[in-house]
Amino acid sequence: MKLLVKKFGGTSVGDKERILNVARRCAADWQAGNNIVMVLSAMGKQTDVLIDLAHQINPDPPKRELDMLLTTGEQTSVALMSMAFAGMGIPSVSLNAFQVSMHTTRVYGNARLKRIDTDRIEHEIESRKIVIVTGFQGVNKYDDYTTLGRGGSDTTAVALAAALHADSCEIFTDVDGVYTADPRIVKGARKMKEISYDEMLDLATLGAGVLHNRSVELAKKYNVPLIVRSSLNESEGTVIKEVAKVEGMLVSGVAADKNTTRISVLGLEDRPGVAFKLFDLISKKNINVDMILQSIGRDGTKDISFTVGSDDGQTAIDAIRENLKSLHAKDVSFNENVSKISVVGAGMMSSPGVAAKMFECLYNSGININMISTSEIRVTVLIDRDDTDRAMQAAHDAFGLED
Ligand code: ADP
Ligand code: ASP
Ligand code: MG
Repeated sequence: MKLLVKKFGGTSVGDKERILNVARRCAADWQAGNNIVMVLSAMGKQTDVLIDLAHQINPDPPKRELDMLLTTGEQTSVALMSMAFAGMGIPSVSLNAFQVSMHTTRVYGNARLKRIDTDRIEHEIESRKIVIVTGFQGVNKYDDYTTLGRGGSDTTAVALAAALHADSCEIFTDVDGVYTADPRIVKGARKMKEISYDEMLDLATLGAGVLHNRSVELAKKYNVPLIVRSSLNESEGTVIKEVAKVEGMLVSGVAADKNTTRISVLGLEDRPGVAFKLFDLISKKNINVDMILQSIGRDGTKDISFTVGSDDGQTAIDAIRENLKSLHAKDVSFNENVSKISVVGAGMMSSPGVAAKMFECLYNSGININMISTSEIRVTVLIDRDDTDRAMQAAHDAFGLED
């Protein structure tokens, strides 16, 4: 008897037919003798609908109340799913984050899971019920609902699989695996049979929305066998594991992230401690900085440019403007119309020339590069947002990733 964790995203439970279809599919696994824990997202675009509604009522809704609202999306899905099983004569129970006791950090809108009490779930499994858990939500130390960030249901599923020592964690979605690039954007994108945790983590962090990046982080940490597959067909999917078979490729995938803003602080004094002061200010606002570029000092001054997530752009700019004097800077400018394009692959570790090839293909497409950053297994460039899709296609073609 196996314990299977199965997560279904918004499209997969988007309407009545899909809910019944998912219920039938899980019922078959249950009838074969397996124990099933399901994790569900809100139906279709319900989370977007709720966010939009909140902003119609108040353009700047209190974060606590927003999370309170958003958790209703997932709660609707799990209750309906349990009703579907009841109609089929199969025992099941729906549980929200409170009932399971999913403890998270304090912060609303982007909380991290700290601990999951598994007693209730284990008890329900022992009585052979299918357990259906709300994704994306948790409870903080004030007994308030929190949410884990957009796409966070994947992380709920992996965390549950780790806590319950499940035999597998399947992420069912609207594509049939992880592709070399978003198959909705890049022509010829190819499905991968397997990919390593590290490569997947980079792709997810750099914009491949197919998995929430923290779910990959957790899967690696707890060695959870993770599979991404389609909820609409039986095709094999993509296995994410510690060491994936190398397909002889330099690059395994291309990702794009439009959720970024570039900030440039101009005319900073060229002396020790300046970068520290600037980034200390930003970090005190709880803002993550991504790419950083510092110009060579000239005439006693220098410029520092960096990128932050779009949601944090305004806060960062305001903080710098307020502190221009104490930072000894002349001015600050920003550009919200930018994207990051990354190529990722463990194969590039021992092969020089990947960055040059990336720059060449962008040059051939007439795409200008604003910033560059690299690691052992990735090259990232910042470009104008209007060029995003073209740049992805160009990089995908240049590295021979197509089918
Ligand atoms: P769900 O609601 O099931 O969580 P998401 O929309 O979060 O689904 O993730 C699936 C989507 O991720 C796909 O529809 C696809 O457009 C997008 N995507 C981005 N990059 C990739 C990739 N490399 N491979 C597969 N899908 C990708
Ligand atoms: N419903 C949430 C979202 O749309 C969480 C998820 O789907 O994973 O972001
Ligand atoms: Mg998702």
